[in-house]
Amino acid sequence: MAIATTEDVLAALRGINDGDSDVVSRGLIQGLAVKNGHVSFALEVDPQEGRAKEPLRMACERAVLALPGVRSVTAVLTAHRDSHTHNHRPQRASLNAQMRTAGSPQAGPRPQGPEGVGAIVAVASGKGGVGKSTVAVNLAIALKALGKRVGLLDADIYGPSIPRMLGLKGKPVSKDGKKLEPMEAWGIKAISIGFLVEEDQPMIWRGPMVMTALTQLLNDVAWAPLDVLVVDMPPGTGDAQLTLAQRASLAGAVIVSTPQDIALIDARKGLAMFQRTQVPVFGIIENMSTFVCPHCGKESHIFGHGGARETAAKLGTDFLGEIPLHMAIRETSDGGAPIAATDPGSPQAKAFLAVAEKVLAKLETADTRPAPRIIME
Ligand code: ADP
Repeated sequence: MAIATTEDVLAALRGINDGDSDVVSRGLIQGLAVKNGHVSFALEVDPQEGRAKEPLRMACERAVLALPGVRSVTAVLTAHRDSHTHNHRPQRASLNAQMRTAGSPQAGPRPQGPEGVGAIVAVASGKGGVGKSTVAVNLAIALKALGKRVGLLDADIYGPSIPRMLGLKGKPVSKDGKKLEPMEAWGIKAISIGFLVEEDQPMIWRGPMVMTALTQLLNDVAWAPLDVLVVDMPPGTGDAQLTLAQRASLAGAVIVSTPQDIALIDARKGLAMFQRTQVPVFGIIENMSTFVCPHCGKESHIFGHGGARETAAKLGTDFLGEIPLHMAIRETSDGGAPIAATDPGSPQAKAFLAVAEKVLAKLETADTRPAPRIIME
């Protein structure tokens, strides 16, 4: 079978008009990548128009998908990067206001998430292994401890670990044949993409598959009623992440980073991704921060310390707190008994609680500050 070329894709896109000219001539197509029949690109639109351009995005996707030799297409909407853009972010409704106005046009250009879900918060990281899932689990439980009804969606297609961390076994069921019932553990509802695929069966996720699976996990699960749905994002800042950030109607995102420089550079990429999709970044969490020796009680900074706080300040985003590097966190999170639930009085659990309080404060106040300006080095 013939493989589509970049020229083929551009020719197809030239057939799609936006106003009086086609999307390619208007310079709306950005980051076009064509590889072995898999096509991805971003459609840059005015942030004011936001979701109104969804039909245009779909038309572009369809036109490219119809080309011979195209196996998958991932097209995402992003905001213009003009210098004025960061002053034009739509205002966020507060958590309560979002719940009241769900579905109403006054709620802002971003569509609401699944019905009966107050706000969706993404936990993201620039790379794997920084403790993103550990933070997502304990943050969800800490939010529950603060009196919220909480759900946790494990969207980490590369290594779903939430079932293990929550100690969940078995498969979710459907009572009505339409919606999947979320599983429950430690007082929170949870669904993992790991429930939908067989363990030990490596899957190669293509853009549209990721989108379909994640849309289902959001919309075809009986989440309601929830105040907050925490989403454990796939690590990195590729297509899957961008798509999810765009499709999931996120109220905001938190970025998990270790203090190491390299992880911080990745955290910056995460920030930049959310900025482009107009998702407010609530701030950065430094994980595996201070190490307290279990024998002598002495503090040491194995991966350095304070880098996330500095980066957050530099980027104009908030620092949401630091989680110590502690054996008890590793043991409880890998043993299916998260520390925020099983030892709430411990300093480690209190660190998660402090972060949860900050996240909640972000959700409950409209964040109308301009999005941080990202300068990539
Ligand atoms: P990610 O989701 O970023 O890939 P995980 O949450 O799976 O990372 O964490 C990777 C490993 O690090 C796990 O074994 C986890 O228990 C451990 N871990 C995460 N955070 C901490 C911490 N603060 N202290 C000790 N171990 C941690």
